[in-house]
Amino acid sequence: MAADYHVHGLGHDGPAHTVERLWPYVEVARARGLTEIGFAEHEWYLEGLDFSVFPRLEEKTKLKVRAGLEVDFRPGRDFKELEGKPWDYLIGSVHEVHGWAFDKPGEEEGFGNWDIDELYRLYFGLAAQAAATGIFQVIGHLDLIKLYGHRPRRPAVELAEPALQLMARLGIVLEVNTSGLYRPVREIYPSRDILERAFQLNIPVIITSDAHVPEEVGRARETARQILYQIGYRQLATFHKGHMGTEPL
Ligand code: FE
Repeated sequence: MAADYHVHGLGHDGPAHTVERLWPYVEVARARGLTEIGFAEHEWYLEGLDFSVFPRLEEKTKLKVRAGLEVDFRPGRDFKELEGKPWDYLIGSVHEVHGWAFDKPGEEEGFGNWDIDELYRLYFGLAAQAAATGIFQVIGHLDLIKLYGHRPRRPAVELAEPALQLMARLGIVLEVNTSGLYRPVREIYPSRDILERAFQLNIPVIITSDAHVPEEVGRARETARQILYQIGYRQLATFHKGHMGTEPL
């Protein structure tokens, strides 16, 4: 059993959302030994999603195919447009601090305008607010703010503590996202010290690739698996129709 729940089958190109379009991702997942694939498109493509694609993909393969979404959290927004859809899970991700989309290409310079400790504190504060909505089963790439390697003076794990406490209390899953290995920071999101604290707090985890092309599905999964195993994790979370289960790590 092995699931990758953060796959962008539409990449950054958007619909059409079809079996033919997503099939290459399923094939890579199968070739890499995954037993489950979850598509979590950027919510910008919500209108174009065809929910009949997921069961049709499942019929064509032995893999379980799950329906998720990566939702941009911003304070004060509502989530009405997400209601009434057959989600297996929703990933809440913070990509913006004070309206600044810091992970967009070309925004790297913007880090120079901030005290990095303050930026991290605000970032983790937003992640905590996302958790508090109760809408998300998963918080995505919890320390994405490190993507270019800017580090706070205080340990990031201390700045993340309120968000981690809240996730633990609400039973929200922490995403272990390997895409950071391919960004300038060259580290999995989140860092090992944050994962160690998450383990102490009994926070469940999943391993994801954040694939935007088929070849990226399941990438560096074994690296993440070994880190989690060394820390003490023996299980990963699974999702079906909004309910959490577990699989062996
Ligand atoms: Fe994201």
